[in-house]
This record gives sequence, structure tokens and C-alpha cells, in this order.
Amino acid sequence: MDHHAPLMDDPKLTDEVARLAALRRYEVLDTAPEAPFDKITALVSTVLGVPISIISLIDTKRQWLKSVLGPLPQEMPRELSFCAHTILTRAPLVICDALADKRFAQNPAVIGSPYIRGYLGVPLETPDGYNIGALCAIDVVPREFSPQEIETLKSFAAIVVDELELRNLARLDQLTGAVTRRAFLEEVGQAIGRLKRYGHQSSIIMFDIDHFKRINDSYGHSAGDAVLRAVGAACTALSRDCDSFGRLGGEEFAVLLPDTAAGTLAAAERYREALATLVIPGYPALSITASFGIASLMPGTDAEQWIAMADAALYAAKRGGRNRCCVAALE
Ligand code: GH3
Ligand code: MG
Ligand code: MG
Repeated sequence: MDHHAPLMDDPKLTDEVARLAALRRYEVLDTAPEAPFDKITALVSTVLGVPISIISLIDTKRQWLKSVLGPLPQEMPRELSFCAHTILTRAPLVICDALADKRFAQNPAVIGSPYIRGYLGVPLETPDGYNIGALCAIDVVPREFSPQEIETLKSFAAIVVDELELRNLARLDQLTGAVTRRAFLEEVGQAIGRLKRYGHQSSIIMFDIDHFKRINDSYGHSAGDAVLRAVGAACTALSRDCDSFGRLGGEEFAVLLPDTAAGTLAAAERYREALATLVIPGYPALSITASFGIASLMPGTDAEQWIAMADAALYAAKRGGRNRCCVAALE
């Protein structure tokens, strides 16, 4: 791609909704520091000889730093962010002296601490072409950046995106895009921790596709896979940002609604309805239904008991005739 193409020839640079969706897919905002990212900012600082290096992600209204080396706040308003400018093009943004650049001369981080002067930012471009943030080398004195330094930072930026992709490969089921059973159980464990510490009650909606064997038997295994893929896409689209949608096994899935106890039956009904009306790409004659079990977390319940409660409710829904939702009975 021509890296200096005007914006109008490069619609992915102006599609903010799709850009934010690309960022959300990594589920990286507001996560704890992680060594691979901190190693990259440490290397940038050493190799380019700068006191400040950051991996910034541009959210709807803020800049959030996955890794920060040097005196910058982890979060700041988007309108004050240098990187919000970097993501507008595919080329690196080079600023030799921010005081001499009218876009930044009045920026609080330029006229005040840490007194940014030199800035080199390379967009973090996802494999599908969205700029989700930037890798930056920042100096507190004016400076130039050599072509080799710019190439080096571009290579490090590519490694940041590779690292984000690898995290997703490990966390997400490749067929459905749902989180793996292991990643889902980790989030269940965190929900149990939040109940113990803060009294926040979470809920699980578990479901299993009805008569799925018949689909495999009548239409073939690849039709079954197409169904699972469509179910994955529909449920991912339906789940809220904070919800976690997981594939527990085969054609059994679950949604974790963190810190939510009310309205879960209505939420389950939305998923049931969406699946009952689902169109399977490539198989227009196919339709499916699923049966749902809902269980809210009770004090003293462990992960295994909680999932068993949802499972029991799911099987009550199967026995009751399928294509329905059942709430777990309180013990
Ligand atoms: P029920 O309504 O009682 O759930 O009936 P069912 O036919 O769905 O029964 P069950 O849940 O036991 O069947 C699960 C089937 O799902 C069996 C297995 O062959 C199939 N399956 C599991 N994983 C996959 C997969 O990744 N792809 C495909 N195509 N089929 C799968
Ligand atoms: Mg089934
Ligand atoms: Mg099953």
C-alpha cells in the first residue's frame, strides 16, 4: 500500500467504528502491565536513546498506555494525545521540536512536565489495516530521528501488534471466535473473587445447540462447523464489552455477565431469539435453536458448583422441550 495515500483513498483510516472494534477485539485496554510489552518500550528507550517510550492505544475519548517507560500518565484525554495524530496516517509521525509545531506547542505535556520536545510515533496497524494506537519514542530536548531509527521503531511496532495477535490466538477459539474454555474459567474465577471482595454478584448464561448431531448427520460436518461459526459471530456481536463469551466444548457455550444479577433472563432471551432466527452463510435452508440455563453466583459457591448449576438449568430447558431458557433453582 502507498503509505502516503490521501485519507479519502484509505477508508480504514477514517472508519472510527471499525477501528474501535479492531481495538476491542484484543481486550487489552485496562489490563495489567505485561513483560513482553514492557521489554519493547525498554528496548526502544535503549536503542533510540530516549528517556520516554510508550505503547499507546487510542480509545473513544482517551489515550491509554499498555506500557510506559518514563514520566507520563497511563491515561489522558484523546485531544491531548500526540498519538491521536499519529494514527491518522500510515506513515510515522516525526516531530523534531514540539514547541515549534503549532499542533503541540500549547500541549500541557510540552509547556509543562515532562516537557516533550522530540517525538517519533509509528502507528500500530492491525493485520486488517486499522491503526489502534502507536509505539512512540519521546525526548525532552529537540532532536532528529534518522531513517534507521525510524525503520527500527517500525519493526518494534510490528512486534507489538504480533504480540497482541498471539495473545488472541492463545485466548480465542479459532472456529467461533469465543474465548477458550480455559480463558473463560479464568474469568469465572475473577468473578468469584469480586463477589468475595466487593459483594458483586455475577451470572452465567450457558447454552447448548439443540439436536446438533442431526445437522452433522444430514448436512455434513462442514455444515456443523458453519453453524458454530455463525453462532460465534452472532453471540460476539450480542455480548456487551464487559461480558465474556466462551466455548465450553463442542456446541456448548456460555456468557459470563460480570457484576450482573438482574435482567439475566431477558439477556438470555435475546440470545435465544438471535439463534432461533440465525441465517447460516452458505446454508440458507438450515435453522437452529438452543437451550439455555442461567445461574447467578451465590456466596460460598465455587466455579465448579456455579457451572454445574447453570448446566442443571440447561438440562431442565432441554427436558422442558428445548429452545427455551431456565433459571437455576436457588439452593
Ligand atoms: P441436544 O439437543 O440434546 O443437545 O442434542 P445434540 O444432538 O446437540 O446432542 P449433543 O449435545 O450430545 O451433540 C453434540 C454433537 O456436536 C456431537 C459432536 O459430533 C458435535 N460436535 C462437537 N464439536 C463439533 C465441531 O467442532 N464441529 C462439528 N461439526 N460438530 C461438533
Ligand atoms: Mg446439543
Ligand atoms: Mg452438547
